[in-house]
Amino acid sequence: MLLRPKNTLDIITFGHPDLVQPSAPVDRVDQEIRELVRDMLRTMYKAPGVGLAAPQVDVLKRICVVGFDEDGRHEELALINPRITGYFGQESGYDEGCLSVPGIHSVVFRPSGIMVEGISLQEEPIRFQAEGFMARVLQHEIDHLDGILFVDRLGPAEREKLAQQLARLEARTQKKCKTAERRA
Ligand SMILES: [Zn+2]
Repeated sequence: MLLRPKNTLDIITFGHPDLVQPSAPVDRVDQEIRELVRDMLRTMYKAPGVGLAAPQVDVLKRICVVGFDEDGRHEELALINPRITGYFGQESGYDEGCLSVPGIHSVVFRPSGIMVEGISLQEEPIRFQAEGFMARVLQHEIDHLDGILFVDRLGPAEREKLAQQLARLEARTQKKCKTAERRA
């Protein structure tokens, strides 16, 4: 019997075409999905990051995980087919980054509260309200499922400021994709 290595997954970066594709809903939460979620959590903590969406590991399925410490408590969530059903509270700005856009960050404005619906790993419907940092991270991750990155949420002036850095990252990503193609 082979011992399975502790899997972490490769994170694709800005310029990879799959990062801007919408992801498909999950029909069944089976063993394969649960293993994917486990590997996504491992990958997120190792990176380290506070959230990860399946398309970032090049799986175009509507799954995301979040995990971080807040007020001395560890918050962790895995959501299948998450949907934002409502917003509340004021918009606020926060300096966001993304594991798929390494080295780049910018202030993004988002509503401070959201209503979320989805499915748990036990395949039960879940519904909750999130505020503050949790709402911020969930909005960022759920955006990924629609092929939207935080840089797409910036105004034209902010986006322009990052244009050169993004172009360089895009070129690096495309070079990596080509190398992978040659190997395959
Ligand atoms: Zn991200």
